[in-house]
Amino acid sequence: MSTFYDKIRNKEIAPIGLGTWNMGDDLRKQDDEIQALRHGLDLGISIIDTAEMYGNGRSEKVVGEAIKGRREEVYLVSKVLPSNANFDGTIRACERSLSFLQTDYLDLYLLHWQGRYPFQETIDAMEELKNQQKIKAWGVSNMDVSEMQEILGSTSGSSCETNQVLYNLSRRGIEYDLKPFHDQQKIVTMAYSPIEQGRILTNKTLQGIADKHQVSAAQIALAWVLSHQNVVPIPKSASANRVEENFNSLKIELDQEDVEKLDLAFPPPTRKVSLEMI
Ligand code: NDP
Repeated sequence: MSTFYDKIRNKEIAPIGLGTWNMGDDLRKQDDEIQALRHGLDLGISIIDTAEMYGNGRSEKVVGEAIKGRREEVYLVSKVLPSNANFDGTIRACERSLSFLQTDYLDLYLLHWQGRYPFQETIDAMEELKNQQKIKAWGVSNMDVSEMQEILGSTSGSSCETNQVLYNLSRRGIEYDLKPFHDQQKIVTMAYSPIEQGRILTNKTLQGIADKHQVSAAQIALAWVLSHQNVVPIPKSASANRVEENFNSLKIELDQEDVEKLDLAFPPPTRKVSLEMI
């Protein structure tokens, strides 16, 4: 079976996903959220990212509604809370997520961030969930290089397929060491908050480049993330139009001049920066 890395590299699935943080929190928005996710699937997006943490399962329930009858089109990702990530807790959390998502398997299951339980315990549970066919693969989130080294050095640790981290124009710290480490280990970098939750979109340089390409600032921010090999941004939108706008960033090619301007406005790291989290 091909790994997440292979699927992205061989273009088996689109290298952009659908975030779902805050979905399900406001009942009045729920229809739009479901529509937005379904529109994403219509466009050919497969990856949907959720977590048990998001609204205490409410996001997973929205995703469950959205993918009903379309499970095979989806590359479904959820996450276990560190406070649940001992052996039995991880198994139970996964089963709860499966029931909220109305499915019998996850494509990828992540440890949301490091907690008090040893990595080995969570990894053993992940491998057990694989044996039980409740998950197809596992990974982690919010891990810096030293944690990744510990994970990969654990028994079965080399089965880790992704590290989902904060990455966007204004948060480039991972380029110094974590991203090269992922590439060397064939671990996919999933980029969360790829448009910095909207905060970078008023930047003048970004807007200037967007005007030149006759696209939006969000699309340039996403095109920049997408211009890096082995990186999968997972922008969240509760609007079908914005999901389509975000998807269309796959068609944008930034030229050398754009990249240089962006490097001046959002400089790359020149030394180790501890991994930031949102
Ligand atoms: P994003 O950078 O994806 O920004 C989402 C915000 O931007 C929303 O307010 C959305 O509003 C708005 N937006 C989306 N598209 C556009 C657009 N084209 N133009 C203008 N505004 C737009 O932030 P998130 O923090 O949501 O990150 C994405 C996903 O990553 C999360 O939803 C979650 O799945 C995951 N994540 C994982 C974390 C982890 O610890 N592993 C931490 C944080 C996020 P609207 O919905 O109204 O369109």
